[in-house]
Amino acid sequence: MAKVEVAAVSTREDCLALDEGDALAAQREQFTLNEGEIYLDGNSLGPVSRAVSTRVNQVISTEWGRGLARGWSEAGWMEMPVRLGDRLAPLIGAQPGEVLVADTLTFMLAKLIGGALDLRLDRHVVLTDVANFHSDLYIVQAMAARAGRPVTVKAIERRALESELSDDVALVMLTQVDYRSGEALDMKAITRAVHGAGALMLWDLAHSAGALPLDVTDAGVDFAAGCTYKYLNGGPGAPAFVYVRSAWQGVLQNPLPGWLGHARPFSFESDYEPAKGMQSFVTSSPPVIALAALDGALDVWDHVTIDEVRAKSLALTDLFIQLVETRLPGIFDVVTPREHEKRGSQVALRHPDAYGVVQALIECGVVGDFRAPDIARFGFAPLYLRYVDVFDGVERLVKVMNNERFLDPRFATRRPVT
Ligand SMILES: *Cc1c(COP(=O)(O)O)cnc(C)c1O
Repeated sequence: MAKVEVAAVSTREDCLALDEGDALAAQREQFTLNEGEIYLDGNSLGPVSRAVSTRVNQVISTEWGRGLARGWSEAGWMEMPVRLGDRLAPLIGAQPGEVLVADTLTFMLAKLIGGALDLRLDRHVVLTDVANFHSDLYIVQAMAARAGRPVTVKAIERRALESELSDDVALVMLTQVDYRSGEALDMKAITRAVHGAGALMLWDLAHSAGALPLDVTDAGVDFAAGCTYKYLNGGPGAPAFVYVRSAWQGVLQNPLPGWLGHARPFSFESDYEPAKGMQSFVTSSPPVIALAALDGALDVWDHVTIDEVRAKSLALTDLFIQLVETRLPGIFDVVTPREHEKRGSQVALRHPDAYGVVQALIECGVVGDFRAPDIARFGFAPLYLRYVDVFDGVERLVKVMNNERFLDPRFATRRPVT
């Protein structure tokens, strides 16, 4: 992996020089970005690329526009969930036929949790992280309550995991990169420990896919799922991806069956018989326009590697941390781990007025976001961010902090989406 050393970088010129030598620099022009704005929120919603517009327009004008219902057979719409799964598979280290794109993430987690609980009928505990994303916590509790036997969800501190593993644990569900702190967990070591206790492992890769290299095969992961609208730039509400290890296919059952996961959907049979492979995890009609947008968004991976993206991501986050600490010493608590192997592709800064800081910064053209209670969160997407953007972003942050704009009473009330 090409390493980019940023320790010696201190000036705007240094950053411009890094951009000069950046192999990924050319990708930026594929994306629609606002002139003068520095977008550090691609970990929440990635921007639109040209290939997305082209592919979506093709569906609207030709496949749907002219083909109408013929599109289902002639334009390959039915195959899209499996085909896009195969396209995405290398990004998480999966094999062909192990990934599907359908639903949105919370629904996919429901399917995996429900199916997994049926594979360990003699066990009664699900372990998850108390700091997990709230939607993951809601759905795991709801599925456990409907397991058909008493199942307890224990939301524990991450460091207590090993001591909580027992022969009553059916499933462990963790998010690999923490959405708040940006901490990355060791997928392989944790999966091994979980298997050592005879439990199944489900990883949420929402903040990992497209941000760092993953190898679900080597890590022995049973099941995984993630978003495609964060670092994969699939668009607002883009469908989720789901991974089921080949060894579990035909064994793990989709608890939410529908006609398009049936072995013969157009026989209109009254009893369900699952299709072979990942297709059985499809429930309903594929969202063709959304899938077409994702299809276009994945084009960029034909030209870049995840290792290149990771090397630049670490350099960008190193640079951001270094500049924040030298330009604004003692102002923020950097929550994100310094060790590269423990870091995702975002940096979280703790500050008592984090909401005001983020809002004031947005008014200065630097878009980050706020996560309650006190985190200002900045995502670094190497496909379209430049080193000079990091430099300029921190300079604008310095202005916001120095003139105390973040204390403006307008920021005392929060918007619905923070
Ligand atoms: C973004 C995110 C989600 C969002 O789920 P949707 O059902 O797609 O809205 C869920 N879990 C985690 C960990 C996330 O980061």
